[in-house]
Amino acid sequence: KMLKGKTAIVTGGVRGIGKAIALALVEKGVNVALCYRGNEEAAKITQEEIEKLQGNVILFKGDVKDSSFAKEVIEATKERFASIDILVNNAGITKDKLILRMNQEDFTDVIDTNLTGSFNFLKACGEVMVKQRYGRIINLSSIVGINGNPGQSNYSASKAGIIGLTKSAAKELGRRGITVNAIAPGFIETDMTDILNEAQKAELLKGIPIGRVGTSKDIASLAVFLASEEAGYITGQVIGVDGGM
Ligand code: NAP
Repeated sequence: KMLKGKTAIVTGGVRGIGKAIALALVEKGVNVALCYRGNEEAAKITQEEIEKLQGNVILFKGDVKDSSFAKEVIEATKERFASIDILVNNAGITKDKLILRMNQEDFTDVIDTNLTGSFNFLKACGEVMVKQRYGRIINLSSIVGINGNPGQSNYSASKAGIIGLTKSAAKELGRRGITVNAIAPGFIETDMTDILNEAQKAELLKGIPIGRVGTSKDIASLAVFLASEEAGYITGQVIGVDGGM
């Protein structure tokens, strides 16, 4: 109930985990501003689904790597909805390769999108939230950012970086009424993990005590809680949602 009328920015909010978080927030009466990089079809479908729920939504197409894009999104969202209460730094990519085959661009592209992109939005939203003396920032890390994973040195470094960003930002912003937390999903069924073949999926499943792969809704449930006023004494945390992996 207390989320009603609040405003959230969700990066990468038109597909997968970001979309599930956006829809779950809309169901609580939150206005949402969603960013995406280029998937027009997904953007259109998500917008229609939200409007069907009588939700307020605005869409922004651009690259989270670009700090001026972040500023534009924040300014336009504030103008439209008056405040920015919640930021979900969710946009992310993978470019999996073994280190010896990975070139510098594969490495920096993933770091720039996942980590620098999160910094760009955290900074731009932080400026607004500090003035409001209220904010809830949720960053998407990963179990791979904690444990590492062969073939994902770029991705796991970006997700470990997000943990450091989360903890430092929590210390800087706590006195201004802003919490900053990270969610570390395990294996969640989305387009991102759809590139795995059945044998790889079966192998991963063996390591999940709960006995099933995760869904975007499993992540959205935690995101909604962390976005609520009731979660105000939780900050600087990395919370795993991974079925016990
Ligand atoms: P996904 O299905 O691939 O969706 C990614 C979203 O991010 C898309 O909406 C995409 O926009 C957007 N995006 C990507 N690069 C962008 C950029 N440079 N600028 C703006 N938007 C950009 O991914 P997902 O599986 O839902 O994952 C969401 C987050 O959870 C990611 O941070 C991921 O690392 C993390 N995570 C996922 C899993 C998992 O198992 N799936 C596990 C751990 C962590 P378009 O739609 O326009 O392409």
